[in-house]
Amino acid sequence: MKTPVRVTVTGAAGQISYALLFRIASGAMLGNDQPVILQLLEITPALDALKGVAMELDDCAFPLLQEIVCTDDAEVAFKDSDYALLVGARPRGPGMERKDLLEANAAIFSAQGKAMDKTASRDIKVLVVGNPANTNSLIAQRNAPSLDPRNFTAMTRLDHNRSLTQLAQKTGSSSDKVTQMTIWGNHSATQYPDLHNTLVDGKNAMELIEQNWYAEEFIPTVQQRGAAIIKARGLSSAASAANAAIDHMRTWAMGTPEGDWTSMGVYSDGSYGIQEGLIYSFPVTCTDGDWAIVQGLEINDFSREKMTATETELAEERDAVAHLLP
Ligand code: NDP
Repeated sequence: MKTPVRVTVTGAAGQISYALLFRIASGAMLGNDQPVILQLLEITPALDALKGVAMELDDCAFPLLQEIVCTDDAEVAFKDSDYALLVGARPRGPGMERKDLLEANAAIFSAQGKAMDKTASRDIKVLVVGNPANTNSLIAQRNAPSLDPRNFTAMTRLDHNRSLTQLAQKTGSSSDKVTQMTIWGNHSATQYPDLHNTLVDGKNAMELIEQNWYAEEFIPTVQQRGAAIIKARGLSSAASAANAAIDHMRTWAMGTPEGDWTSMGVYSDGSYGIQEGLIYSFPVTCTDGDWAIVQGLEINDFSREKMTATETELAEERDAVAHLLP
């Protein structure tokens, strides 16, 4: 039996976590032979609800689940943590401006960054799901100066997975036949799902679809999918978000298949001319628990314009919280 790893989940009594924790405990994220200790963080008023979730986890008798820690203290939640899924975030309230939302979350994610800096494993892998995910990830990273900035990521895997299925359905294929999908930029309506390098059963996607469908239907459908689900279901897309979080962490830990890549919001090193230091979604390959940005893809004018628009939005978000960044 392997040594157990510590997995921290914040906002652990929320909707996404309710679809997430049971799958982590079952082995879906890190494998059927990897025992886990769940370290669950909630705000104090949600601790009772969290206790109920922990009772249900107990009642599943998962063989891989070694221990559950429930706490409202970030330093306890991140103690020796190997994997952190930062799901809890402040939702937009009535009359709240975008700047207020950024600031409210900056307070949460700076405190969590500091706690990780102090108590987490030096190799912790951090995924931010709570919105605005890319900027929250940046804030946590900047508040954890003793950790490698490459350990902080943001989730665009749901946008990536949505794109796989939209394209598969359009071309009469299946999602497992679609490779080399890329989401560039921010997890927001400015994200750019790029099909120029994508293959369907080995064939270039752009040769299988009309430019008009790509620009007028595919891109807006992916960008606005979250809102469409809220409209249809009356609730947000919690289960598919949880599934994407599992996929993101599993790929990071276990690697991308040969000849394929995934999309992750990662620390920009200036690749493709994107400002260094932003948490920007790139095409990445993963090997041995590390990620690398796919290099050398051709960027046409259409793509460049969209990549720059989402980069500008991320730079504006960063500048809006600049006074809170160390
Ligand atoms: P959810 O679990 O539904 O969502 C949590 C976060 O994930 C939100 O920021 C949400 O963004 C984001 N998100 C990212 N992708 C998606 C997606 N595809 N669909 C839906 N959401 C997405 O929220 P709940 O309110 O149910 O739960 C949040 C929990 O976090 C609460 O229990 C609260 O107590 C806790 N919390 C904990 C904190 C802490 O640990 N310090 C701090 C703040 C809250 P969006 O808002 O844009 O939908």
